[in-house]
Amino acid sequence: MNNDLSATSAVEAALADVRSRIAEAATTAGRDPEEVTLVAVSKVQPAERIEAALQAGQRVFGENYVQEAKGRWPALRERFGGIELHLIGPLQTNKAGEAVALFDVIQTLDRDKLARALVKEREKQGSLPRLYVQVNTGEEPQKAGILPGDLDRFLALCRDELGLSIEGLMAIPPEGDDIAPHAALLAKFAKRHGVGKLSIGMSADYETAIRFGATHVRVGSAIFGARPPKAPAG
Ligand SMILES: *Cc1c(COP(=O)(O)O)cnc(C)c1O
Repeated sequence: MNNDLSATSAVEAALADVRSRIAEAATTAGRDPEEVTLVAVSKVQPAERIEAALQAGQRVFGENYVQEAKGRWPALRERFGGIELHLIGPLQTNKAGEAVALFDVIQTLDRDKLARALVKEREKQGSLPRLYVQVNTGEEPQKAGILPGDLDRFLALCRDELGLSIEGLMAIPPEGDDIAPHAALLAKFAKRHGVGKLSIGMSADYETAIRFGATHVRVGSAIFGARPPKAPAG
């Protein structure tokens, strides 16, 4: 019980701290804090910490694994109203149906095959989550995301040919890189293509990301504490 209580108050305090830093970063940048949405990244976190965040009023969450999210969120949605769930991890096409049924936003649309799988799910399920295209701003070979040079073509495919509405762009800059040029590049692409939402910035650099226009910051460990080292499959 003591453990539960201290975990709960730790999450509550951390959440309050992150929220106030977001507001301050936005204000300093001359932006309205309301423009910035905190996506609390709950992957592989214990249930009690997630419930603590919900109790403290947090409603927007990010998950990386379809299977894990599926095991956890339907029951939480029944208990807490107004939850908005974002998929921020890579999506395999064979899980597209489950992801469409579960998530409110898919931030990781990153290839033609997935775009076409989503079109099929739109036919089957009648609607789709809101979609962000993931851009590999660091052009890392092993990383998911559309390469900057391919973005025009990919957005044209999604919008003009497949009729997908793209609401945002998302990026995961290379580890250890200064986030500023990546956020600036993403903002430039968003402006050029008339895309409103920019998902960039994590625990270590969300304040900087906000200075460069982030509308969605994805913050995990700064809210929930360190994650257990090994992620589940799925
Ligand atoms: C895990 C993860 C985060 C959160 O990372 P923290 O450093 O814990 O804030 C954000 N975005 C993505 C895509 C992630 O996989």
